[in-house]
Amino acid sequence: MTHRNFLKIMAAGAGGILSLSGFSRAAEDLGSGEQKMPVLFIGHGSPMNGIEENMFSRRWHALAQELPRPRGVLVISAHWLTKGTYVTAMEKPRTIHDFGGFPQELFDVQYPAPGNPQLAQETKALIAQTSVGLDHEWGLDHGTWSVVKQIYPEADIPVLQLSIDYNRPAQYHYDLAKDLAALRRRGILVIGSGNIVHNLRMIAFDHIDDPGYGFDWALEINEAMKKKMAARDHAPLIDYGSFGAGARLAIPTPDHYYPLLYVLGLQERSDEISFFNDYAVAGSLTMTSVRLG
Ligand code: ZN
Repeated sequence: MTHRNFLKIMAAGAGGILSLSGFSRAAEDLGSGEQKMPVLFIGHGSPMNGIEENMFSRRWHALAQELPRPRGVLVISAHWLTKGTYVTAMEKPRTIHDFGGFPQELFDVQYPAPGNPQLAQETKALIAQTSVGLDHEWGLDHGTWSVVKQIYPEADIPVLQLSIDYNRPAQYHYDLAKDLAALRRRGILVIGSGNIVHNLRMIAFDHIDDPGYGFDWALEINEAMKKKMAARDHAPLIDYGSFGAGARLAIPTPDHYYPLLYVLGLQERSDEISFFNDYAVAGSLTMTSVRLG
């Protein structure tokens, strides 16, 4: 700990702000310099959440007030699956409309947040587990912009994406996330964007506008997974097949689940966990979102 940081803690303590446990937490946070950013997993659901005012997007608006303002945002989106791992490195990422069958106004959305090639380099350098490619083709897919646009509508914070190497198993993603830990102390907000329960084949179309409607198996596994998260018991969440038949329904393919493993991989000892937007929609999706720290 530097002398300056120690003085900062003492000054805060002298003001009676910090309890004894708060003291050790502050010491840990200041140990590496800057205060560390929280980490978010966001259930993104329908792309329409990117333009609608609804209970989910209203909660996303509020995050901008609740979080320290980041220097940049790094999103692991369910919608960028690659062979190998890439980070977007262009100055101006394009807005990707990677969906079909939605109204024109959704295709008209542009989210002109800048990139940050320097931050892409920094991110690449941090990842020891594999060689990360600098990408100049992708941009911001709807897993990213539908959420980040609702949090930071001014589009004045650089946004990068890190791809998901879809040939790799769950444990790989959890472990790779640990290499990103230093970003939190450099003012970077890391967001995993997916859905814990995500089975589009079983969508209850007669309940599509009925937030809170979840099939029993969807609600049960969502609760079981939250319980493990609250207990910091990550092993069964990595080996999600251990949850049994419900997991096969909830996670028929792991694209929307892997972003959660990046978030859990970033959990540190002092990070408390909280949940928001904790609702099912259309039977076979959950919007349950997680904040760490
Ligand atoms: Zn999605």
